[in-house]
Amino acid sequence: KVSVQDLHKSYGSNEVLKGLNLEVTDNEVLCMIGPSGSGKSTFLRCLNHLEVPNSGKIVINGHDLSDPQTDINLVRENIGMVFQHFNLFPNLTVAQNITLAPVQLKKQTPAAALQTARDLLDQVGLADKADAMPQSLSGGQQQRVAIARALAMHPQIMLFDEPTSALDPEMVGDVLDVMKQLAADGMTMIVVTHEMGFAKEVADQVVFMADGLIQESGAPQDLFTHPKSPRLQDFLDKVI
Ligand code: ATP
Ligand code: MG
Repeated sequence: KVSVQDLHKSYGSNEVLKGLNLEVTDNEVLCMIGPSGSGKSTFLRCLNHLEVPNSGKIVINGHDLSDPQTDINLVRENIGMVFQHFNLFPNLTVAQNITLAPVQLKKQTPAAALQTARDLLDQVGLADKADAMPQSLSGGQQQRVAIARALAMHPQIMLFDEPTSALDPEMVGDVLDVMKQLAADGMTMIVVTHEMGFAKEVADQVVFMADGLIQESGAPQDLFTHPKSPRLQDFLDKVI
């Protein structure tokens, strides 16, 4: 469970997050939409403490990130993150990318980690790519490896920051299918996306961010069919 209360984040005089409040319960999928620069990536980075908020509270599975007693690294181990640009290690094979963290953090022996990697590659439809180098894969394949890599740590929560927006259109579906399956398996997910079809189909909750605030939130069928604010109406007109 993720609970965010009155979250503020500034870069110098630029106040990017102006008091966010939201809750994501276990097994729930929250999709975040909103214009460029509205603070969506900043918000995700605050959740795993890659950015430190100026004020407000983030509680993840009972761990308050602002509490000095909280072991941030331990909380982070339970949060998988997938970025727009995959960020695979280019000098490691696909399997090595996936086994690196579990082995280094001594979660698994190398042999067990390799078996997990093979299982995960099977799950994302890339069973035959364990020994490939990342550059030899398509963008969609690399992104599915990145998802497998995040899953290798058995996270309780997965964060996705526009995971398909750098992909050629024909690759988007394969990545979204993997994410849909994850959601169906009960993964708690926060997904920043411009894929409104995905949000409509998979999200339990959609939040619309603009100007550092959640302007509107709700079930996808309400938000997409009856947007209350002209701001959201305008945004939806542009992206759909
Ligand atoms: P996009 O849809 O383009 O990815 P976004 O909603 O993810 O946009 P953010 O990347 O969170 O937006 O950026 C929000 C604002 O914060 C922008 O004005 C950006 O310039 C600023 N910003 C983000 N990261 C930093 C940083 N490390 N230092 C200074 N300013 C930053
Ligand atoms: Mg962003």
